Amino acid sequence: RAKDEGKNNYAIFKPTQNSGGLERLTLENSIRKALQQEEFVLYYQPQIKLQTGEIIGTEALVRWKHPTLGLVPPGKFIPIAEETGLIVPLGEWVLRTACRQNQIWKEKGFAPMKVSVNLSSRQFSKQNLVDTVKRILLETELDPQYLELEITESMTMNVEIAIEVLGKLKELGIQICIDDFGTGYSNLYYLKLFSIDRLKIDQSFVRDIMTDTNDADIVATIIAMAHKLGIDVIAEGVENKDQLDFLRSQNCHEVQGFYYHRPLPANEIEQLFTRTSAMKTNS
Ligand code: C2E
Ligand code: MG
Ligand code: MG
Ligand code: MG
Repeated sequence: RAKDEGKNNYAIFKPTQNSGGLERLTLENSIRKALQQEEFVLYYQPQIKLQTGEIIGTEALVRWKHPTLGLVPPGKFIPIAEETGLIVPLGEWVLRTACRQNQIWKEKGFAPMKVSVNLSSRQFSKQNLVDTVKRILLETELDPQYLELEITESMTMNVEIAIEVLGKLKELGIQICIDDFGTGYSNLYYLKLFSIDRLKIDQSFVRDIMTDTNDADIVATIIAMAHKLGIDVIAEGVENKDQLDFLRSQNCHEVQGFYYHRPLPANEIEQLFTRTSAMKTNS
């Protein structure tokens, strides 16, 4: 379909590794324009507490509602946004939109829950991240305990700055989660240095849990370690009942994945909340 729209649109979504400078520039300019024209949109994926089956939070995931190409996934533009620094304004938009939406749900009377927002390393090393978060919390009136920031270990960050920034973020009362846990270089080192509230087991370990005993052992070990450290653990990419049963047998606290829900636009999340809270009052 993209091909039908003409050469330009097709060209900007070619794999970035092969893109020449011109295509990269085109994509950079399109992202900039998309920000101004408010073409980005957040989807929210529910997170489920295994013991009770209740939705305890959502993860905000950005998409680009492109006028001709349709819904573009973040893998296609986040890397360029990171390289060009556009992730800073985009990330701020994501944070504000997620906090505002979460507060709106609370004001509409749904049970308050956490919203998780992905942070890229470019935002993290930015001096004013703490001020930005503080300002957005004030602006949206969201209670800080209902905001979680997801950081990844691939973040090449200066350890001293990271300790300082994470410390200040924790002082604001927000939660910190390590995303894609198990895939980076310095997982355990992070756990030692920072006060982390939650680990998110990467979906690459969850995928083959039933067929690859190494993966099953790794997942079981991460869960046991989280228990020992007294922090929460969530598994992402849960797609079937067998994976769920395994995670349950290991007492994994929480799960997120297509088995329960795909990421959904805000209005569909609201319908889901309405259905699930109606279920509760009826039972
Ligand atoms: P992530 O933070 O690890 O997000 C999880 C990804 O797995 C999401 O892809 C989600 O849709 C997908 N997923 C969820 N459940 C399942 C499942 O059961 N099976 C499979 N196969 N996949 C599942 P998505 O939305 O395409 O996002 C991809 C990545 O883009 C994210 O990985 C995150 O690193 C990045 N990203 C998304 N939104 C943002 C953002 O606002 N800011 C930043 N910096 N990065 C973002
Ligand atoms: Mg994430
Ligand atoms: Mg992840
Ligand atoms: Mg990821």
